[in-house]
Amino acid sequence: MILTVTLNPSIDISYTISNLKLDTTNRTDKVSKTAGGKGINVTRVLHDLNKAVTATGFIGGNLGKAIVKDLNESGIQNDFLSIKGETRNCIAILHDNQQTEVLESGPTIADDEKLAFLNHFKALVSHANVITISGSLPNGLEDDYYAKLIQFANDSNKKIVLDTSKANLSSVLKSVQKPTVIKPNIEELSDLLGTEVSSDPDSLKSVLTNDLFSGIEWIVVSLGGDGAFAKHNNRFYKVNIPTIPVVNPVGSGDATVAGIASALEDKLDDIHLLKQAMTTGMLNAMESVTGHIATDHYDDLFNRVTVTEY
Ligand code: ATP
Repeated sequence: MILTVTLNPSIDISYTISNLKLDTTNRTDKVSKTAGGKGINVTRVLHDLNKAVTATGFIGGNLGKAIVKDLNESGIQNDFLSIKGETRNCIAILHDNQQTEVLESGPTIADDEKLAFLNHFKALVSHANVITISGSLPNGLEDDYYAKLIQFANDSNKKIVLDTSKANLSSVLKSVQKPTVIKPNIEELSDLLGTEVSSDPDSLKSVLTNDLFSGIEWIVVSLGGDGAFAKHNNRFYKVNIPTIPVVNPVGSGDATVAGIASALEDKLDDIHLLKQAMTTGMLNAMESVTGHIATDHYDDLFNRVTVTEY
């Protein structure tokens, strides 16, 4: 199975309000509440792909219970560690063709919980072939916490896909514990390198040879509607995708991570891994629900992705 790690999950609330007014009351009956967080999106897409998947991370309080209930109702296996703090809400208000978000920072993880999760994770890793780690760390965990998780996974020779950014990512890149794959977008790469990175393939090819990335087997730079540029060991690939009817691209990076993890588990070759990663990303962008794909158009899209060695 594939193990997905979401250390700071949320209940994602979306309110649609046609004409949002400030400093007064707004009412709506267009409300959706679902389990969220980048790793939960990865989990749902893996489930849509019919892969065996288990979601883990920290949950707490009634909102934590709501996450488990939501996943159980979808038939998704999960094994979270319960904590004293309360799982967060993240609110998106869809109004006037705009999206305004309020993101709670979430609970602070206590020292005993921090240690307990390491043991919890270690036990789960033994049943997994591939592990995905997504999103930022909750308060209370040091930046090197992901490197600790990666060490357990590496000790058991498991494949790891890491999708995080800023200090959480740079801490892993500086550590001796390397994930198998990272999937930055251009903004995350620019943040990491402290300079504006261009999506031009020649410049990306040079950026990805930066010493910071040494020891990382796969780097898949996702480029939204422009596909991706990737490096696998010493090979570079430019990946082109067709134009598609985009409905909601939020979470497409998470769907791409799911495609990569599934391909790693199935030991697909480079071309097939990249085609699958792009196809799951595009399928997510064609749906209104974040972190969901309908697989009916899978083959059609997959066959229209082209991968060229660069
Ligand atoms: P997020 O943070 O919302 O999860 P991301 O920035 O990590 O997204 P993107 O590069 O936007 O990830 O998207 C990942 C993949 O999804 C792309 O490589 C592509 O295959 C597909 N995709 C995303 N946006 C579009 C789009 N507008 N048109 C076609 N495909 C898209």
